[in-house]
Amino acid sequence: MITSGSDDLMQRARRVIPGGVNSPVRAFRGVGGSPRFIASASGPYLRDVDGNEYVDLICSWGPMILGHAHPQVEAAVRDAAAKGFSFGTPSENEVALAEEIVARVEPLEQVRLVSSGTEATMSALRLARGYTGRSAVVKFAGCYHGHVDALLAAAGSGVATFALPDSAGVPDSAAHETIVLPYNDIDALRAAFEQHGDRIAAVITEASPGNMGVVPPLPGFTQALRDITTEYGALLISDEVMTGFRCSKAGWFGLEGVVPDLFTFGKVMGGGFPAAAFGGPAQIMERLAPDGPVYQAGTLSGNPVATAAGLATLRGCTDEVYARLEVVSHAIADGAANALSAAGVPHTIQWAGSMFSVFFRDEEVRNYDDARAQDTEAFGRFFHSMLEQGVHLPPSAFEVWFVGAAHDDAAVQKILDALPDAARAAAQ
Ligand code: PLP
Repeated sequence: MITSGSDDLMQRARRVIPGGVNSPVRAFRGVGGSPRFIASASGPYLRDVDGNEYVDLICSWGPMILGHAHPQVEAAVRDAAAKGFSFGTPSENEVALAEEIVARVEPLEQVRLVSSGTEATMSALRLARGYTGRSAVVKFAGCYHGHVDALLAAAGSGVATFALPDSAGVPDSAAHETIVLPYNDIDALRAAFEQHGDRIAAVITEASPGNMGVVPPLPGFTQALRDITTEYGALLISDEVMTGFRCSKAGWFGLEGVVPDLFTFGKVMGGGFPAAAFGGPAQIMERLAPDGPVYQAGTLSGNPVATAAGLATLRGCTDEVYARLEVVSHAIADGAANALSAAGVPHTIQWAGSMFSVFFRDEEVRNYDDARAQDTEAFGRFFHSMLEQGVHLPPSAFEVWFVGAAHDDAAVQKILDALPDAARAAAQ
């Protein structure tokens, strides 16, 4: 496979962009080698600058649930762009997108639109602090909520451990307000609340974690989050940036049904454009400016082109689309399991609705420590074999294999054909 065009671009990029990329995982550090620069995408395929074609299992890390350049979304974007790119005043698309989100997720009464998942979680956290008048937040190791200072802390497991910053540049003061606990551990949660309950503004959790690979809540865990936060007067923030409108029409909430105080959304609801949201009952949301004292704003919030893309995408997410995601995910996961078993490679596949990931270890993964115990080098060999055969997986062992409704039978077959060689490469 010729990759000289991508390699040249990476050299150019490194001179003017740190690490050559605008989001670290794109740099292939988790798998070695150098990234492909994509020139265009349509349906389930990516095409790089050297003309190589790949079946896409990144789907822009979630948003491209209908496939790339979906005709209805493209038409909505063209139509919106022809009328102007950004007004800085209210516009109808914002209302329509908010209505669509509120209609899908029953407990929601109001949402505020923002431009990224990071902004959504950052703002939800500020609102929770403003609402409760408390400052500490509980998060779970292995859950990613964007690059918010207080939420980057992921190290320091154990009961009520005050984490050290996980990133340089995060002040201790921010990290000290973050209590990091192991996921799926109700005893650790209860102990943290017994010790610090009167200081805790919120527990934030991925609705069903996908950022350490797919690690769904064990039965009763989300309900325990709900019960303990209620008991201590803290808010429960369910981060559905990844799962929202993917796991079901109403995201993970639609499958499990535990009602949090606040939700955050992103990815699918922007259809590939920068649109995200946070929301909850009016009684909490009215604390936001201009009605309330918690400030939150954005020059491009509710951008007319982004909201048009999001609205067209959500309206395109029909029952048939969710049925197709099920079929495609199971075909690929079954193919991966068969190929890895035949090659003798330890593996476990875990699910959240139709969202799945493959761990390169043979025991159930219940938390971040379990996820890190997998064979990431075997994944690296597997990844590169798939790439050489024209299938682009996420370049990390800790990610969801994202599919879209545009993955037709031909695209799925191309993946299935590539899996046996990749599994043998992993076994070496
Ligand atoms: N929350 C979750 C669960 C995510 O998966 C992500 C991104 O992957 C974020 C928040 C941050 O979103 P963004 O990258 O749009 O800032």
